[in-house]
Amino acid sequence: MALLEIRNVTRRFSNYTAVDNVSISVKAGEFFTLLGPSGCGKTTLLRMIAGFDLPDSGQILLDGNDMVGTPPEKRPVHTVFQTYALFPHMTVADNIAFPLKMAGKATQEIKTRVGEALESVRLPSFGNRFPHELSGGQKQRVAFARGLVNRPRLLLLDEPLGALDAKLREEMQIELINLQKELGVTFVFVTHAQDEALALSHRIAVMNHGIVEQIDEPSRIYSFPRNRFVADFIGKISMMSAQVVEAAPSHLKLDVKELGEVTAVGKAGVKTGDTGVMAIRPEQVRISHLSDEPRLKNHFPGKVHDFLYVGDVTTYIVELSNGAYIEALLPNSAPGRAKFFEVGDQVGVSWRHDAGI
Ligand code: ADP
Ligand code: MG
Repeated sequence: MALLEIRNVTRRFSNYTAVDNVSISVKAGEFFTLLGPSGCGKTTLLRMIAGFDLPDSGQILLDGNDMVGTPPEKRPVHTVFQTYALFPHMTVADNIAFPLKMAGKATQEIKTRVGEALESVRLPSFGNRFPHELSGGQKQRVAFARGLVNRPRLLLLDEPLGALDAKLREEMQIELINLQKELGVTFVFVTHAQDEALALSHRIAVMNHGIVEQIDEPSRIYSFPRNRFVADFIGKISMMSAQVVEAAPSHLKLDVKELGEVTAVGKAGVKTGDTGVMAIRPEQVRISHLSDEPRLKNHFPGKVHDFLYVGDVTTYIVELSNGAYIEALLPNSAPGRAKFFEVGDQVGVSWRHDAGI
C-alpha cells in the first residue's frame, strides 16, 4: 500500500483553481518530487499534505487513513522550508529539540535524539551555536535535522535548496540523497529546477497550471516526455511538426514540415496519417563539417547561426537550409578550445533514428 495517497484533490482560491484534480501515490521509502514552474500549485499541494490547508474536494490518505480533520501537529509529517525557519534566539540544539519538546518527550531522550540528528547531518559539534553563526548550507542542514528528529513518516521539502549558490546546492543534493537513503524516510520534495529533480528523485510528478502532466522515473520523463509541455520544460529540445507517412513496427517515416523525410524508430500506437511533433534533444544531434560527413539517414545541411559556450559543453544553433533551427551540443573535450565550429560554417546535422520522439 502507498504511504501517501492523494486522490482527486482540488483546491480553489475564489475562481482560480490552484490544484486541479490531482492524484498521486507515493510509496514508503521513495524520494518523490513535485516539479513545475512557479505558480503551478506545488506549495499549495504540499500545504494540504501537511495539513496547513484543506482540499475543496478529494482525499489525502497517509497509511490508508484519511487525513481530513487531522491537524498538522498530529500528522506524521514534517515540512522543511526554503527559508529554513530557524528560531534566531535559540541554539542549534534547542532548535532541533523544539519538535520533541512540543511532543512532550523526556529530557534524556531529547538529548540523545538531538545528538543523533546532528550526527546525521554532519554537524556533531554545532549544538551550542546560534543560527547567525552558521553558513547558509549549515542552516539548511540544521533545518533538515529538525525536520527529521521527530522521525516523521513523511518529510515534505519545499524548495529547500533554492537559497544556496550553485556549488553548495550540488553538495547538498548529494547529501540529501545519502540522508534519505540512510534514514529511509519518505521524501516529497518540491522544486522548479528540472536538473535538481532529475538528479534527486526516484519519481517525478511534472505539474503545470494545477494539473499533473506526467508521473515517471527521471530517465523516462527526460527521454519519453508525454507531451509538449513536459518535453519543453525538462531540458532543451528542438521540436518540429510532423506527419507519419509510413508506420511499421520497426520504423516510422515522417514528413517533417521543415526537413522533409525523416526516419524514426517505431512506436506503439502510432499510425500512418497521425500528426504530432518530432522532438530531439541537443545531445542527440551530431554536427560535422559538410565535407566530412557521409550521407546518412536523417542528415540535413545547414549553417551555424550561433553558439553558446558554458565551459563543459558548447551548444550550437544550426539554421537548416529551409529556415528551421536545431540545437546541437558538443562536449569540450579539448582543453582551451571553446568551439569546433564558427558562426557561418556550413555543417551537416544528423541523429540516430531512435533519437526522435
Ligand atoms: P508554486 O508553489 O508552484 O509556485 P503555489 O502553490 O504557491 O505555486 O501557488 C499556485 C497558485 O495559487 C498561484 O497562482 C498563487 O498565486 C495561488 N495561491 C496560492 N495560495 C493562495 C492563497 N492563499 N490565496 C490566493 N491565491 C493563492
Ligand atoms: Mg512554492
